[in-house]
Amino acid sequence: MWNESCPDFPRNLMEFDKRFNSEEACREYLFAQRWPNGFRCPSCAHGHGWTNKRNLVECSNCNHQTSLIAGTIMQGSRKPLLMWFRAMWWVCTQKTGISAAGLKRILGLKSTQTAWAWLHKLRRAMIRAGRERLSGRVQVDDAFIGGEEPGVKGRQSFKKARIAVAVEMKETGRGLGRIRIQHIPDFSASSLIDFVRQNVELGSVIETDGWKGYNPIEKMGFQRIILRISDSPENPLPHVNRVIALLKRWLLGTHQGRVSIKHLQHYLDEFVFRHNRRKSKDIGLLFQRILKQSSETGPITYREIVRKTT
Ligand SMILES: [Zn+2]
Repeated sequence: MWNESCPDFPRNLMEFDKRFNSEEACREYLFAQRWPNGFRCPSCAHGHGWTNKRNLVECSNCNHQTSLIAGTIMQGSRKPLLMWFRAMWWVCTQKTGISAAGLKRILGLKSTQTAWAWLHKLRRAMIRAGRERLSGRVQVDDAFIGGEEPGVKGRQSFKKARIAVAVEMKETGRGLGRIRIQHIPDFSASSLIDFVRQNVELGSVIETDGWKGYNPIEKMGFQRIILRISDSPENPLPHVNRVIALLKRWLLGTHQGRVSIKHLQHYLDEFVFRHNRRKSKDIGLLFQRILKQSSETGPITYREIVRKTT
């Protein structure tokens, strides 16, 4: 069983392959992630059960069966857990993530549609509800992405979209701290202020450009520092601009610009997930996180993903 003081996850690909070499091994691990304090039968509250080949946990007292994957992002999947585990491993251990075509190839899936849907399901497990807001000194800016852009090679399939970006600044040096990115409808004060309030701790120092849309943030309980082009003619907000450049490169590189605007936020979530953990020493810990969050994130069907309109 996993706990903070005794982490239980494979540390590299060798350990991963060795450990998850059968459905049974995957079932056992998923079981421990879903019920870290031990299984409790929903029917008779008995504390012992075992998983069978149909991914059903059977109570050893009353034989009630509970699905191991029901209520998780894997719900309804008939594919082996071995494949899901490998998809999760690739998604979190590859520095630039993986495209649907790439995942299809690696797993030997028959359709790109399945790979595409799996990636979208996994993206939903990347954002933890109630995650901590950014704090300290935070640079905030808004930008367009998509369409044809000077200085960016290639062309995004979606028309221009507006995003808001916040970057926590390290106290020392020029390194980038944690980030948040949101697809926003416009650059109005209300959209920008909503973004800041949702993502930055009150009392933080916020660096922005002179755009009037940010004017209300001081009244909201933030300190604001306006950086003007005259302060640094080349790049008044270097941290935010660096993140935006990396994001554009990722969308055009890994995804070759084939991102639909209605799904953009989920791609942004994946980018943020990977960026905020890029210095993590244990890649296996990321895998374990994503597996755990996948077991806690409710299911969504392919139809629901496609139908999404916002
Ligand atoms: Zn029972």
